[in-house]
Amino acid sequence: MADFLITGGTTYVPEDGLVGSSLFNVGDGLTYNDFIILPGFIDFAAEEVDLTSALTKKITLKAPLVASPMDTVTESEMAISVALCGGIGIIHHNCSPEYQATEVSKVKKYRHGFIRDPVVLTTQHTVGDVLEIKRKKGFCGIPITENGRMGGKLVGIVTSRDIDFLEKSTDIPLEHVMTKAGDLVTAPSGVTLQEANAILEKSKKGKLPIVNECGELVSLIARTDLKKSREYPFASMDPGRQLLVGAAVGTREGDKQRLQLLVQAGVDVVVLDSSQGNSIFQIDMIQYIKQHYPDLQVVGGNVVTAAQAKNLIDAGVDGLRVGMGSGSICITQEVMAVGRSQGTAVYKVAEYARRFGVPVIADGGIQSVGHIIKALSLGASTVMMGSMLAGTTESPGEYFFSDGVRLKKYRGMGSLEAMEKKDTKGAASSRYFHRESDKIKVAQGVSGAIQDRGSALRFLPYLQTGIRHGCQDIGARSLSHLRTFSNRAMMYSGELKFERRTPSAQMEGGVHGLYSYEKRLF
Ligand code: GDP
Ligand code: 5GP
Repeated sequence: MADFLITGGTTYVPEDGLVGSSLFNVGDGLTYNDFIILPGFIDFAAEEVDLTSALTKKITLKAPLVASPMDTVTESEMAISVALCGGIGIIHHNCSPEYQATEVSKVKKYRHGFIRDPVVLTTQHTVGDVLEIKRKKGFCGIPITENGRMGGKLVGIVTSRDIDFLEKSTDIPLEHVMTKAGDLVTAPSGVTLQEANAILEKSKKGKLPIVNECGELVSLIARTDLKKSREYPFASMDPGRQLLVGAAVGTREGDKQRLQLLVQAGVDVVVLDSSQGNSIFQIDMIQYIKQHYPDLQVVGGNVVTAAQAKNLIDAGVDGLRVGMGSGSICITQEVMAVGRSQGTAVYKVAEYARRFGVPVIADGGIQSVGHIIKALSLGASTVMMGSMLAGTTESPGEYFFSDGVRLKKYRGMGSLEAMEKKDTKGAASSRYFHRESDKIKVAQGVSGAIQDRGSALRFLPYLQTGIRHGCQDIGARSLSHLRTFSNRAMMYSGELKFERRTPSAQMEGGVHGLYSYEKRLF
């Protein structure tokens, strides 16, 4: 201790740790596991940490979380959940323009508590059909209409109480078990959530079908949702209080028509989806969008160098997506021999882009809350996640079992399976530059499966709380204190210190030396 004492009584603290520029100036590519952040001083509670972050020049989120435009991650259900939790979902474009625009408009029209597109059956469907829906989707409160579709005349409703004891009588048509229209409690379209709440409280029912003046079903309210409705004070909303949503587009001529439909559906931001965004095609598309839709925010990318970023910033992008070959399902670096380690990519691009006030999205390779905190500390404003959100209830696709484990599919958008997909969602717009005429497709991703993660509505708040705790340990009261564009931010003032981790330091930083353990995260 005596060594630290300087005459006059002031204590001398030696230089310790590396500032960002020193960490990344050695020349080798670093990724999130290769370094650690040194702790700072805590004089505030973790709950006080403000997670407000810029997605683009004009869109600010209450949480730095973005769901990736992948067909096994983000359609309307995921986008709604992420927006309710303060982030934003980007709807994928491995589908027809009409399908994608409909998904965007489902998010924009979402009113918390109203199920706008409920599963509907006819009187001729059976108890077995309801049990199958319950097994696959987890609910069994199902309105019955004359034609079995939304907008059809409501003739009854089946709920868990109607089928509870009928598991062996799967052939019974629903007309014999349902509560018939005459006995139903319904509400007229235009009802507010508050009014609906009062009706459900009084009737003690679990579901409230909403009908128009002709008795046709227009939506459904579930009591469970009303109970949750006060839990999303940080939802990402536009000035009209509709949830924010983004959509991915390509840079082909046909994408201009897709763009038009997306804008009509109310999309807030478009993400130009390319694994190597520094192209004449992308620059042309950015200029086209800025000319035709000056109010629409555009994220360009992907980029991993300042030189790539420069071209897109010069063309007018409002945000940049950073990452090449770091995604969990990605084989770009292996096949194309091009890319960059994600830590270095995020640091280098963010360090350049901040001079122009362009926020950076760290895309790919996020495997834990710690990785999110590291990405943000390196200068990213938000993180984009694929595998972290795949396998949740809200990701597209159905669960299946393998060796007793409940799984959902997760695949790269450049996997052969995604590029060759045939389903009812219509033709794709390609991220990976393949044309109908290409005889040989070169895959840049793989197709796999992810274990059931439960609902994103439970997982996302865990991520937020984790980020707050990380910021507290670092001594950052807000993400903007940690790394805004300004030189005063901890990252750029030199206050934030890092250290390289040797392979053995990385092992030490993980669980080790135990015979067995259980890893529960929240
Ligand atoms: P149920 O009583 O078995 O129908 O289930 P709950 O009402 O307890 O929960 C149903 C949950 O699934 C609610 O959060 C609904 O918003 C959600 N959900 C999503 N789509 C649908 C749908 O098409 N029908 C129903 N009944 N619920 C849905
Ligand atoms: P993850 O969060 O799973 O690590 O990575 C998701 C990211 O990987 C996506 O946001 C996207 O940028 C990237 N990605 C998605 N599909 C593919 C693919 O097939 N190949 C490559 N190279 N990257 C992909």
